Formats: sequence, C-alpha cells, structure tokens
Amino acid sequence: MATYRIGVLRGDGIGPEIVEATVAIIAAAAEHAGTTAFDFVSLPMGWEAIEKHGEPIPDVTKEALLKCHGWIMGPHDSSSYPAEHREKRNPSGELRHHFDLYANIRPSKTMAGIKSVVGEADLVIFRENTEGFYPDRNMYAGLGEYMINPDIAIVNGVFTRKAAERIAHAAFRMAMQRRRKVTIVHKANVIRLGYGLFLDTCREVGKQYPEVTVEDYHIDAMAAHLVRRARDFDVIVTTNMFGDILSDLAGELVGSLGLAPSINTNDQQAMAQAAHGSAPDIAGRNIANPVGELLSTVMLLDWLAERHEDRELYQVARLAENAMTVTMQEGICTADLGGTASTTEFTEAIIQRIRQSP
Ligand code: ATP
Ligand code: MG
Repeated sequence: MATYRIGVLRGDGIGPEIVEATVAIIAAAAEHAGTTAFDFVSLPMGWEAIEKHGEPIPDVTKEALLKCHGWIMGPHDSSSYPAEHREKRNPSGELRHHFDLYANIRPSKTMAGIKSVVGEADLVIFRENTEGFYPDRNMYAGLGEYMINPDIAIVNGVFTRKAAERIAHAAFRMAMQRRRKVTIVHKANVIRLGYGLFLDTCREVGKQYPEVTVEDYHIDAMAAHLVRRARDFDVIVTTNMFGDILSDLAGELVGSLGLAPSINTNDQQAMAQAAHGSAPDIAGRNIANPVGELLSTVMLLDWLAERHEDRELYQVARLAENAMTVTMQEGICTADLGGTASTTEFTEAIIQRIRQSP
C-alpha cells in the first residue's frame, strides 16, 4: 500500500483545532478507501516551537520536513511573538523562502449551498511567493526597507526574470488543464521596470503555450473586473503583494475567506495552508471552521497524486472533499457560515459521511 509521510505544523490560535480536524478527516478517508496510508509527523511551529526550541521554525522542524512527502501548515499568530522573533521572518515567510516555495496557488470556486456575491465562478490565482514587495529579508538584508531619516521610509521591491518565468510556467501549465485562459495582473503603467519585467516575461512564456489565450490588466482595474465578472476568469498570474490582496478578495467573493484554500509549492515540495489567519479571537472555543485547512490539504493530496501518478490517492482526496460538501449541503456547518455545529461536531459529521460512502 502506498504510504505518504505528511509533516503536520499545528501553529497558533485556531491552528491546532483546524489542523487536528483536517488530519482526522484525511485519516478517515484513507482508512475507508483502504488503498493509501498516511504517516502524520507532528512538528513544532509557532508558540509551541518558541517554548520548546526558542524559534518559531526550529532547525529540527526544517530537517524533518525534508523527509516528508508533503506538509500541512496551520496559521500562526506572529504578531504575538516576543519582539526578537517578530523582527525576523514570520513562519510562513521563513518556510516559503527557506524552501523556495515559489508558487502560491489559490483557487476560488463557488460551492453549492454557499452564498456567492458574484454568481458562479471557478478561477485559480498563481501568486509569485518569494519576491516583489515582500522580498527575502535574508537575501536582501537592509535593502528591502529602511529609514533614511526618522520621517522617511524607503521600501524596495525585487522583480527577477527567473521568478516571473517559473510562476508563469506553473500558471500556463495549469491553464492547459483548465479553460486555457491566463490573465496577467500587474501595474506596469506606474512601476514600469519591475511590473514591466513581470508582464513581458509572462507574455514571453505564454508564447510556449499557443493554445492558451492571454490577456492582462492593471491591478486596480482587475479588482473591479473580478467583482463585476468573476466567472470570466480562469487562471490569474500575478506578483506577491497583488496576489496576496486579490486572493483574499476572490475568496470572499465566492463565499467566505474561511473556506479559501491554498498550497505553496516549488515542484518538489508542497505545503497546504488555509488562506485565513490564526483567528485568536475565537481560539480554543471549538467553533473554528476547518474547511479552508481541509481543502488546502485536499489540494496537497491532488498535487501528490499527480506527482506520484497515484490514482488511489486522488480518490482519497475526492472521498474527503465530497463528504465535506454533502455535510455542508445538509446544513451542518460552523457559526461563521450561520450554522450551529462545533468544530468537532462538524468534523465528526464529515467522518460519518466518509464511512457511509460506497
Ligand atoms: P493574519 O494576519 O494572521 O492573516 P488576519 O488579521 O487576516 O490575520 P484572521 O486570523 O484571518 O485575521 O481572522 C479574521 C476574522 O475571521 C476573525 O474575526 C476570525 O475570527 C475570523 N476567522 C478566520 N478564520 C476563521 C475560521 N477558520 N473559522 C471561523 N472564523 C475565522
Ligand atoms: Mg490575513
């Protein structure tokens, strides 16, 4: 039986609750399918790691992650960390930069039974994950941002051909499996060199995919187009900061940010990570919605299934995803979606559906 070793980073706030729910659901799906086994390896991240190892992402965690097929990451509450840790990279930034996880892939798809502001939509945002206005603080130490006097801050962005090329290839490859349309989002009319290089490079890469239709929009116009006609977009490729903002917008437009999934990948490794944060306001109350984390993990399983050409793993992902959808359609959901189920009741209901599946 195919066995996958999955690194589990529970994180802060609601992280442990939603990650544990996700692991329980995925484990139940694997057990029910009887074709796949998961070896979940719990690794310290965030407050737990600061207390045990003095670092939010200690070396033991990084070394252990290298031995895993994929990782599930919970959210972190880095603004609450002691000052010495707040000044460094936050856990997501640390992992994205350390492992060069250059592509942040964030789908936004309307779900039956979930109210959408924009009618039906099914799009995927490819966000460049390593540079732009969030460059690697170690690589560009002192260059990213600094004060030239107490009243003036200078912030630099880093835009490289290499980074644009690889995110563009990832986006065009995905477009070939979907509706064959790529929208490049930038602001090359104002930041001519940086966004100009990004736009030109994406267009150049696009020539290698002649079946794919290419268009481009400025970020401001794109925000408006997304609200007005989300259904027209298929694959969107954009820079780090624009992708950050646009994917939260897209997530909320099709339902709720609490449902929005993502994976971070560099082709060899992939990390599931819900789009939302650690929600400290509701932590420890057993009311958090685990769907964003679960759908991210379903994306991770699909990514692994494709990489290992494992049809059975793909079926395990469908089992978990369908059980979740049916459960929500039956009206069982957490308080953020207007339901009354606790995190554990919702999780149990999904596991029940998995066990009743044919
Ligand atoms: P971060 O900077 O870590 O991304 P944020 O300021 O974007 O944090 P979130 O932690 O995402 O904030 O929370 C925003 C709001 O959404 C909060 O009121 C929180 O309780 C709610 N929220 C976020 N995730 C969930 C979830 N999974 N289930 C229920 N409510 C959530
Ligand atoms: Mg946030």
